[in-house]
Parts: sequence; structure tokens; C-alpha cells
Amino acid sequence: MRWSQFFIPTLREDPADAEVVSHKLLLRAGLIRQLAAGIYSYLPLAWRVMRRIEKIIREEMDAINGQEFLLPALNPKEVWEESGRWTVMGDNMFRLKDRRGAELCLGMTHEEIFTSIARHELRSYKQLPQVWYQIQTKFRDEQRPKSGVLRVRQFIMKDAYSFDVDQAGLDKSFEDQRAAYVRIFTRCGLKFSMVEASSGAMGGSASNEFMVKTDAGEDLIATCESCGYAANLEKATSKLDAIADEPSALSAPEEFPTPNVRTIEDLINFPGGAVASRQIKSLVYVAKTEAGEEQPVIALLRGDQQLHETKLADALGATEVRPAHPEEIRDLMGAAAGSLGGVGVKQKAKAAGRDLRIVADNALRGRTDMTTGANKDDHHLRGVDIGRDIEVDQWTDLRMVASGERCPVCEAGTLDVAKALEVGHIFKLGTKYSVSMGANVLDQNGKEVPIVMGSYGIGVERIMAAAIELHHDADGIVWTPAIAPFDVVVTVTNMKQQELKDAGEKLYRELQAAGLDVLLDDRDERAGVKFKDADLIGIPFRVTVGKKITDSTVELFDRAKKESADVKLDEVVARVQQLALAGR
Ligand code: ATP
Ligand code: MG
Repeated sequence: MRWSQFFIPTLREDPADAEVVSHKLLLRAGLIRQLAAGIYSYLPLAWRVMRRIEKIIREEMDAINGQEFLLPALNPKEVWEESGRWTVMGDNMFRLKDRRGAELCLGMTHEEIFTSIARHELRSYKQLPQVWYQIQTKFRDEQRPKSGVLRVRQFIMKDAYSFDVDQAGLDKSFEDQRAAYVRIFTRCGLKFSMVEASSGAMGGSASNEFMVKTDAGEDLIATCESCGYAANLEKATSKLDAIADEPSALSAPEEFPTPNVRTIEDLINFPGGAVASRQIKSLVYVAKTEAGEEQPVIALLRGDQQLHETKLADALGATEVRPAHPEEIRDLMGAAAGSLGGVGVKQKAKAAGRDLRIVADNALRGRTDMTTGANKDDHHLRGVDIGRDIEVDQWTDLRMVASGERCPVCEAGTLDVAKALEVGHIFKLGTKYSVSMGANVLDQNGKEVPIVMGSYGIGVERIMAAAIELHHDADGIVWTPAIAPFDVVVTVTNMKQQELKDAGEKLYRELQAAGLDVLLDDRDERAGVKFKDADLIGIPFRVTVGKKITDSTVELFDRAKKESADVKLDEVVARVQQLALAGR
């Protein structure tokens, strides 16, 4: 490709509205342009990168017997209704009507469509396992599209699905995918952690995310350097030091006035109050069930700990949870936030014909002599013995872990909590879709059983952007050789000098003949401008054809190391070939 004819609309300045590095550089280096919020056009440089990423994904999927499909993005409502996700997906789903008034949506993922094929075509365990995948466009009406291509409303996903006759089969298929994901992200030059994750709206049992630590990410993960434990904060736990409790001195909770006490902090400072670890924090939430019904719930936590809302939603099997509004809280509890507690509320709710759930964090189990709100404005209760005084429906893990807490696995290391970007996600779906959609096969005993499924996604744009977040410097992008848009750029310092021009053209042909993707910078620009542009677009190697050509010598520049070396003309092709192909 000749730069003079290739479309690379670089920008001189950082675009003002871009915050994260990948967004800035994708725009500046001429890879993307925005069409609308969360909708981007991929220009030739970006598409070359994405095609290389896709090639790596294809090779690794094919290596575990994946079979490539291409399913429609336009899906009829009915099939999404069968799984229940027409409702569950809510506002994230793009919906439309055809000319006859029939409802359709744009696919956000393809469990339903692949399952609908499986149920018609797969009859016997003898046909299993099957591993089906596609690399296809997904549509999600994200609430906050942002950070360039990191969170967009139309993106390319590799989504794979496994079909097995039993759990052992799924375990094997899942492990194959996990290993393939490790190879894919490694080949793409990403440093990543695989973490335990919540399964959310996908349903199913186990789920792991592949996370790249970067401030551009929107997730938080906890990792332990000592033993390698890694979990999304929505799943992470930590080892807590036990608190030595005395049995409650009081035979029942005692109410005491606490004027103007609204927060945990206020109660710590209030005379006769309590330290945070002796307080019970009571948070009123409204959970939405899969059927779309709302259910009030009180989450109880230790005063010095924070709730993770996803943990609450997961514990309840809810599709989402939201803090209750002030008027809902008053109606339910008889007091405002700041004076709430779990003592006696279930009985009161029952008497009023209401169903109120109490979910408590494990750290509160067995605690005595605690202080909590009295459900009466400006009053609290002391001497609360949780086992005795609060009717807890469900004990679970609700709290958010923090940096510096002890690792739950090795118990020796400390956890580090950092921002991370999800690039891939693998789920053990189990039989959620096969049962709801009736996808069965005959097993070894001739018995009809639901197919046991897994689902595995990777975001192509996210890999591209994550690679930039990890590999860039003040001058621009630094592509790793495997996903670079070109292997090498041949920069002719002065196109007006025939000797340089000829040498550049010859080298261009020779490098191409050696199987490399070559960009020839044949523009009529100053050498300084050409070097700057090559650095900005991040081609891993640059061969500079300049004055030293009289000595049959060119300069080979390594973009990542920022090192130049003089190389003889007759050796340079082999050198570049070796360097570029080593990274593939
Ligand atoms: P997130 O939590 O970041 O919204 P998700 O959990 O909804 O992502 P999955 O349903 O697991 O995403 O989709 C599989 C992969 O698709 C993700 O790991 C990610 O790489 C990619 N992806 C998901 N949503 C987007 C998006 N809005 N823009 C770009 N890539 C996305
Ligand atoms: Mg995910």
C-alpha cells in the first residue's frame, strides 16, 4: 500500500471530547470516525487491525473444533420471548417493527438463535459436542456509550456456543474455550487476568471474565499477587478478621434518642453511639424479578462496609435492583433513611399484608450487641443480637471488598482493587435455554435430556482499544506485530531524489514478496513529518531509506523499543521478516 494513496486522516491535535487514550489515538491516527453516539465508522487502518484480530480468533476457535456460522442481526420477537429475554433485556434492546407490524429486534447476543437451530437439528448425543461460533455485529442501546469504541451501541463480537449431552461435556467445552481465550489474548499482546464474575442476565452457573487492567475500564477487579486469585468486585470476597463480641448485656434491644444522626459517621461521633463495625447498616432496595414485578428488600451490612448492588441482585435472582425512593422507604419502614433497621420490620410488614425480604451480609452472622436504626425518626436501638432480634431471610455475601483486605484463598496476600476492562466472557449456561426453548437430545440410554450449553463472547473493538491502552507512548500507538495494520513502513526521506525513490520502491516490492504487509511512505513530505506520522499510527518497524543508501545501508527502527540500527540493504528483508513474523 502506498501512503500517498491510502486513506489515513491523521489529526494534529488531540480531539477535545476524547477522554481515554485509545479514543484519542484512534481518532488522531485516523482509524475511526464517529457517526452518532456510540456508533463509529472503522476506516481502513482500523479495519486492517480488526481483521487481524478476527483472524487470530478464527484460528483459535477452529483449533478447538469451532464451526463458523453467520446468523442474522435482525431477529423476530417470538424467539426472544421463548427465553424470557424479550422482557429481561429492557431498554438495552433495539426494537423495531416491519411493514406488517410484526415486532423485531437487533440481536444483542445469539443464545436464542443458536438454540433454535440446535433444537430443530440435534437429535442424539452422538451428534454432540458441537461448538458453533460467529464473528458478527451486535446491537445494544447502552445507557452511556462512551470512551470511543470501548462501549458502543454497535460492535463486533465473536460469540461461540457449546452443546453437550451432560455437565462433564460442558466442563470440557468450557475448558477448551478458556484455553483458547488465553491464547487469543496472549497473541493479541494483552496482559489480562481471568476473574470470577456474576452471570447476570445470561443465567447459568459458572462465569469467568477476561479483564485487562486499565483506568479506561469500567469494571473493578480484586487480584492477589501472592496466589493469583482474581475476581470481579461483583463476586470478590476477602478474609475478614473475626470481631470478638460479648453476649448482649440486654435481654432485648433498647431504644435511645439520636437527634440529627443520619449516617454511620454521625452515630460513631454521637455520645453513647457505636463504632462502625458495631453498627448495622440497613439499606432499602427494590428488586425487579424476571417477570417484571417489584419486590422491596432490606440489605443489612456491617456499618463499615459497602453494599455491592450486583451481589444483592444475584442473591435475589433479580434482573436489577434500585435504592428505594424516600417516599417508598417512609411508607415501608415508617421512618426516613438514617433511622432504619431490621428489628421487627418483617412482622410489621406482614401485619400490613406485605412481603418484605431481609438479606444480610455474612459478616453480620452471629454478631451481638449491635446498634441499628429504630424505624422511628431520630431514634436507634442498642444491644441488638442479630440471631435473636432480626428475622433474616437470606444470609449471603453482599459487601464490596477493598484494597488491602486479606485474600480469601491464600489468606496471606493482600488484595489489590483496580479498574479493568472486560474483553471476553465465558459462561456455563447449563440448561437455561435448552429447557425454556425445548432443545433436547436422546442420551446414551435413549432418554430425552436437555442439551447442556455454554456461551463465550469476545469484543473485537475492545481488543483493539485495550491494546492501545496498554501499548502507547507520547508519540502515538505502539502496535504489537500480530495485530498491527502493517508489518512495516518503508519511509523514503526524500521522494525528489531518484536514487532514494528507486531504492524505496524496490524494497517495497521485496518486502511484499516476502509475505509482509508493507506501507510505502511515498508522500512528498519532509522526513520529520513522515517519522512523526509513522510513530503516531504505530507500525512496529520502519525502514528508512535515506542518505546512507550510497553505502547500501538503510535504517531499521523498532517502534516499541525506540531503537534504530543500520542494516545492509541485502539483509533488511530477512531481518524484518524475522521480527514481524515472530510476533504472529
Ligand atoms: P459490559 O459489562 O462491559 O457491558 P457485557 O458483560 O454486557 O459487557 P457480554 O454480554 O459478556 O458483555 O459480551 C461479550 C463481550 O462483548 C464483552 O466481553 C466485550 O468484550 C464485548 N462488549 C460487550 N458490550 C460491548 C459494548 N457496548 N461495546 C463494545 N464491546 C462490547
Ligand atoms: Mg460480560
